[in-house]
Order: sequence, then structure tokens, then C-alpha cells
Amino acid sequence: MPGRRGLCGAGGASVDRLWSFSFPSFRIHWCAWGSFGGRADGQLSKGFVEALKAVVGSSHVSTAVAVREQHGHDESMHRCQPPDAVVWPQNVEQVSQLAALCYSQGVPIIPFGTGTGLEGGVCAVQGGVCINLTHMDKILELHLEDFSVVVEPGVTHKALNTRLRDSGLWFPVDPGADASLCGMVATGASGTNAVRYGTMRENVLNLEVVLPGGELLHTAGLGRHFRKSAAGYNLTGLFVGSEGTLGLITAATLRLHPAPEATVVATCAFPSVQAAVDSTVHILQAAVPVARIEFLDDVTMDACNKHSQLNCSVAPTLFLEFHGSEQVLAEQLQRAEEITQDNGAFHFSSAKEAEERSRLWAARHSAWYAVLALRPGYKGYSTDVCVPISRLPEILVQTKEDLKAQGLTGAILGHVGDGNFHCLLLVDPEDPEELHRVKAFSELLGRRALALHGTCTGEHGIGLGKRQLLQEEVGAVGMETMRRLKAMLDPRGLMNPGKVL
Ligand SMILES: Cc1cc2nc3c(=O)[nH]c(=O)nc-3n(C[C@H](O)[C@H](O)[C@H](O)COP(=O)(O)OP(=O)(O)OC[C@H]3O[C@@H](n4cnc5c(N)ncnc54)[C@H](O)[C@@H]3O)c2cc1C
Repeated sequence: MPGRRGLCGAGGASVDRLWSFSFPSFRIHWCAWGSFGGRADGQLSKGFVEALKAVVGSSHVSTAVAVREQHGHDESMHRCQPPDAVVWPQNVEQVSQLAALCYSQGVPIIPFGTGTGLEGGVCAVQGGVCINLTHMDKILELHLEDFSVVVEPGVTHKALNTRLRDSGLWFPVDPGADASLCGMVATGASGTNAVRYGTMRENVLNLEVVLPGGELLHTAGLGRHFRKSAAGYNLTGLFVGSEGTLGLITAATLRLHPAPEATVVATCAFPSVQAAVDSTVHILQAAVPVARIEFLDDVTMDACNKHSQLNCSVAPTLFLEFHGSEQVLAEQLQRAEEITQDNGAFHFSSAKEAEERSRLWAARHSAWYAVLALRPGYKGYSTDVCVPISRLPEILVQTKEDLKAQGLTGAILGHVGDGNFHCLLLVDPEDPEELHRVKAFSELLGRRALALHGTCTGEHGIGLGKRQLLQEEVGAVGMETMRRLKAMLDPRGLMNPGKVL
């Protein structure tokens, strides 16, 4: 990541000086700011707000209620908990100074990407300063021949792909929302293409991270963008999925992939959930290199038909996509059709035209809003379990039965090729009893996934609501190891407090 040196640290310290501080003691760095009283009685002191303005300029700091509230929640049902102030740094030097300032004054720091998270990750549970990184939106380097790109935190995955359009390359990780790429790193995101191209974990090569005290870390070494490495501990992996609790990601080096020569989509309806999931397993076992294989249950299909003007059967359905040359596509499509028909599929149709393909995927990506529209005024609550693929049929079938038994309105959809699915539950926000049932259902589902050797979250993260399940998932020693890592990097516990651990 060249061109980003000469960082100004707290009180004008250069980055070289920051690096010379004995890690992990951040004390020298903190002292440079003197004291502003930080935060007292649930408020930031005037002097502290002035110091924030001195770093980023007055126009890039806000303490307005509406702005704070807008930054105190994401797309989840978690209650809005606004920060005390929101700041918009313009470059990594400012991020470093902001972190040093907050840390020196004992003020919590909450990184903010685009706020599309589903686990309450941006809620300021202890107040503090929300650092909105959207103004840092440059593509810093593009290495076409090395299949890699370096982006600032405000670049979204759609913006990156728009920029790459004529390059022959693309970045395939695609959560439904147009999230920031560094937010996607922070949550360990994935999406519909993960079955073929992997999740963020497999597609991040290097990260630039401002640590809580302001120090700058390059997780794989400054400027490096190699395909593989056996050099020491995997620091990059540590920050993927860290949910803003270990540092602020200010640049990400990402792996790019060749854009497919041709693409074809198919939809296929089944008489039962079991038949749809069995088809998924059989397609993967037959080594058909499917690029996307998404499951939508009958409730989701009904919602998508209404919301996106589709005309599909209201039945358990697979949306599939294949990438390759024209000849390879024809073979893949034929094999998938045979397999689904062996499993009782009653409707298989395919489309090559870009318009029809985008119509289908737009409908899939709008499924969250389509389901919400089934009950106007209701809120959505999404589960996110992931199990070994062999256990997928039983957990999906059981989940359907549980929904019925509990009298809950829920739609199931998922990235079944990875064993990951979501149950979107609709809740009346004014009905505490229903909310209680939804939370109990979600915990039951999480525990069922754990019992099947799966995880409580395939891609959304732990955030506020799954901390207990994380403990059950990784066990006491796993938890203690995570706590020690956190304490080493963030000894004052100020980086996005209340999340993950
Ligand atoms: C309709 C819809 C569909 C979705 N589908 C998917 C899906 O298919 N797959 C999937 O994985 N997710 C999905 N999501 C969830 C969401 O898009 C992802 O979690 C995404 O990665 C969040 O990115 P963001 O930039 O919005 O992060 P935010 O919501 O702003 O933040 C999320 C967390 O990351 C931290 N963070 C953000 N930026 C940084 C940074 N630069 N440095 C350090 N920490 C940071 C925040 O503090 C917070 O803890 C969906 C969301 C919606 C609304």
C-alpha cells in the first residue's frame, strides 16, 4: 500500500515514531493528547469534541441527534444505541489520530461501514465516537496481472465491480446489500457466490489496520499481495470477522477472479424441502462447478413473486448459476437438470440473457424486503446458521416444523451450497411476547446447528445477540484465547465494546 506513509500520529508524532513504541504499550501515544476529560455523565466533553474537529475539520464531526441515531443501528432488530459523536475521516492519518485521541481519553470507538450489518455491530452500547469510513472511497492500487486490488474502507463491492467492468476481472463476494468491502472483511461476509469463489476469508490477502492506540499494522507486511504464504501467524485471518473489536480496517488487499466468459441461470421447483436440498448435495457430489446455488422456500417464493413480479411456482425452489465457456455451460446445465429431475423437480427453466438473469438475482437479493412486505409494520429478524452439508436436509425440515409449531411467520432462504441458511422471522415490534418467542426460536436453531457440528453464524457475525452461542460453540479455552487476544490488542476494551465477547 504505497503512498500512505508519513502518518501523523497523536500530537504530530510521525508513524515511524509510532512504530518505535514498545508494542503493546500504547501509553506514550496516549499521553501526546493531554487531557480533555473525554466522556463523563454519558457525554463527551466540549474540549474532546473540539479535539475531534481539530483532527478532521468541523464539517466532518457531528453531534446532531438525527445523525447519531442514524449511526446507532444497522439493518437488524437490535435497539438503536446512538454514539455521542460521528466523525468522517478523510484519510488513514486522520483515522490514526482519531483512534489515538479516543484511546487516550478512554472513549469507545465504533467503526461504521455502510450500516447494512444484521447483528447490531454498530450499536454504541457504551456511547463513544462512531468513525464513519465512507469518505475514504478510493481504489488505491489495481494489479490486473496479479489478480489483486487495494481498496479504502468506503469502497463498496458494487462500486469495485463497476470499476472493474472492462478489466476482465471481478470481485465475486456479494452480500445482498451494497456493503463496504472493509465492513465485509470485518463481518467475514459471504453471499451467493461463495460456493465457488469462497467467502471474505479466502479473498483477503492483506489488511491495513489502525490499532486502537493509533498504530498502523499491515497484517501481511507493507505492500505485499502474494497468493500464498507460510510466514508466521495469520494476522490477516485474525482481523477477518473481528467485527470492529480489534482495530479499524483502513485498506484491504483483495483477490480478484477472471470474469466468466458466459453465464447461465436456472430455477427449479421441488415437491419438498428435502428434495431441493438432496439435489444440492447431489450436484456438489457430482462435481458440477456451480457458481451459485440458492434455496428459497415456498414462503420466500410467494413473497418474491409479489414483490418482484416473478411468476414462479410457490414451492421449495433452487436458483442456480453456472459460469464458463458456452460448451461447458451446456454440459453443466444438462447434468444439473438430470440430477434435479431424479429428485422429483417439477419445473426446470434456464436463462442466458443478461436481463432475465439480473431480474432473477435482483429478486433473490430483495428477498429480505419482499418477506418484510408480507406484513407491513413488522420487523425482520434473521438467523444465520451453517451446518455440514450432509446435515442440511434434517435441520431445514426440522426448522420448517418448528416454525409451524411456534406459530411464527418465517421464510427460509439460504446459500445451501455452503450449508448456510437464514430464517427470516417477522415480528410485531409492539408485541414483547412474540419477540420473546422469536428470540427463543433463534437460540434453539443456533443450538441445533451446534449439535449438528455447525456454527451459529455462517456470515453475519456474532455482534450483540450471539455471544452466548459463541461460548457454546468454541468452548471455554477457545473463549479465553479470544479474550486474551482482545486484551493484548485492546487493553482498555474501547474498540467496539459489547460485541463478540
Ligand atoms: C438485505 C440484506 C442482505 C444481506 N445479505 C447478506 C449475505 O448474503 N451475506 C452476508 O455476509 N451478509 C449479508 N448481509 C449483511 C451485511 O450486508 C454484511 O454483514 C456486511 O458485511 C456489512 O457491511 P457494512 O459495511 O454495512 O458494515 P456495518 O454494518 O457498517 O458494520 C458491521 C460491523 O463491522 C464493523 N466495521 C465496519 N467497517 C469496518 C472497518 N472498516 N474496520 C473495522 N470494523 C468495521 C462495524 O463496527 C460492525 O461491527 C445482508 C444485509 C442486508 C440488509
